[in-house]
Amino acid sequence: MSNHTFIEETRRRRTFAIISHPDAGKTTLTEKLLLFSGAIQIAGAVKGRKASRHATSDWMEIEKQRGISVASSVMQMLYRDHVINLLDTPGHKDFSEDTYRVLTAVDSALMVIDAANGVEAQTRRLIEVCRQRDTPIITFVNKMDREVRDPLDILDEVERELGMPCCPITWPVGQGKSFGGIINLRTQTMTVFTPGSDRGPKDFEVVPLAESDRLRQRFGQSFDDALESMELAQGASAAWNHADFLAGKLTPVFFGSGVNNFGVMEVLDAVVDMSPPPGPRVSTLQVNKQPVVKTIQPEDEGFSGVVFKVQANMDANHRDRIAFVRVASGKYTPGMKLKVQRTGKELRPTSVVTFMSQRREAVEEAYAGDIIGFTTHGGVQLGDTITDGANLQFTGLPFFAPELFMTVILKNPLRTKQLQQGLAQLGEEGAIQVFRPDVGGPMLLGAVGQLQFEVVQHRLKAEYDADVRLEGCQYTGARWITADSPADLRAFTDAYPMRLSHDAANALAYLCTSPYDVRLAQERFPKIHFHPLREHA
Ligand code: GDP
Repeated sequence: MSNHTFIEETRRRRTFAIISHPDAGKTTLTEKLLLFSGAIQIAGAVKGRKASRHATSDWMEIEKQRGISVASSVMQMLYRDHVINLLDTPGHKDFSEDTYRVLTAVDSALMVIDAANGVEAQTRRLIEVCRQRDTPIITFVNKMDREVRDPLDILDEVERELGMPCCPITWPVGQGKSFGGIINLRTQTMTVFTPGSDRGPKDFEVVPLAESDRLRQRFGQSFDDALESMELAQGASAAWNHADFLAGKLTPVFFGSGVNNFGVMEVLDAVVDMSPPPGPRVSTLQVNKQPVVKTIQPEDEGFSGVVFKVQANMDANHRDRIAFVRVASGKYTPGMKLKVQRTGKELRPTSVVTFMSQRREAVEEAYAGDIIGFTTHGGVQLGDTITDGANLQFTGLPFFAPELFMTVILKNPLRTKQLQQGLAQLGEEGAIQVFRPDVGGPMLLGAVGQLQFEVVQHRLKAEYDADVRLEGCQYTGARWITADSPADLRAFTDAYPMRLSHDAANALAYLCTSPYDVRLAQERFPKIHFHPLREHA
């Protein structure tokens, strides 16, 4: 246990997510951050983690086959007396919902881009999400040891794509074969590049820029070119402004090469020095159908947290699930009595863990910003608020109306119970959205990305022994339905009995076959609210 006071404990936390397009180098950088913080000893360990997860969890086969990261994970490390919580996000676009939910649990993001490819499609979508929430973003331009694009070009593109000014903190000297290192604009020093993956943070040579003759001799034209482009970049880009960064209005930019451990420490330091500690969260509890809005500060004494991810069947032999909770306030200690707001019931986890890089360990204490995993046999869902007694419901964990639908046909009707259990659990986990048509008939699965169907089909068989066939259907969208008066709702449900369904959280949804369809229904029933997204309530 540490000697920090309660307030210090929350202030020294940094919780961030790494976002990138697949292959930009996210896994590599994650590993190096862990390595440099001392959380792991040997390179290759993060890959090892991936591999061992494949072995224990069958459905991860899909990830292996496709070379994409399906699940997101959590890692905690200590660095410079700070507790850093790093959340990985799935890179594949079909899992953007999962990524969105992870981004609701962090206070900042680290964007990794491939210097040859610039800002790619998948990064763009993630940026949108960060921008909506004004999440501060640190940019890392990776793979400078390759033949890549002009750094000025990249800066320009990042500015355009992010819609916010860049502020370079380091600047590359050369690239590819001529990559000489990075200039740190603040310390006015050059850190010399040496290839290899076994260097520690202090193993790189640092030369003051004042010794420019020496640097020029060593790096020739690349050095002069770098100084010139650096000057241009500084002229064209924003000066460092911490408040703007915190408001999501400016991004600091770093250059380096993750695979060579190079430029990584600068990023780790930036997470500590620039990124914000945990911030306040808003609770909107419905009391007598009126929202009661309350802002919860990380330093508030009562424990509270929100479930932003649920992973079922981590251990195939036990029907258990881990609810990943982002602590919003207070302090968690083992044995604490916890309540799930939605049900009012006590949460009795079989274990409570923290995620120390590779290992899961029993939690001794956790503060705002930390991610803790509650292992339970049910009773928790995505979006649930958990407290030590207070009545709170955090908002901001949305479900998007699916755009792809399939009906589920069970091959062996004797497995109906298993199918229902599987769908209920996968629905609660957010792996897929499950709609039960009010008129009966096969269940409908709704997804944002096609790959979600494949994962669910695979998992139903592997984890629930329910072999299913998925068939296309006429639906192309859904809207969650609410009305101000029961009579209005009744009139609507009487008019569209064939189109109504209930989802995993038992919320009423209208299934539509085209965008016009919604418009027509809306025109016919102006008093009905059609919601394209549902926030947990
Ligand atoms: P992810 O899909 O974003 O997690 O990317 P990975 O970390 O798995 O990296 C994708 C590929 O790029 C791997 O083959 C890495 O070895 C390689 N890579 C990562 N960083 C660098 C770098 O700085 N330079 C070079 N040349 N290759 C890199």
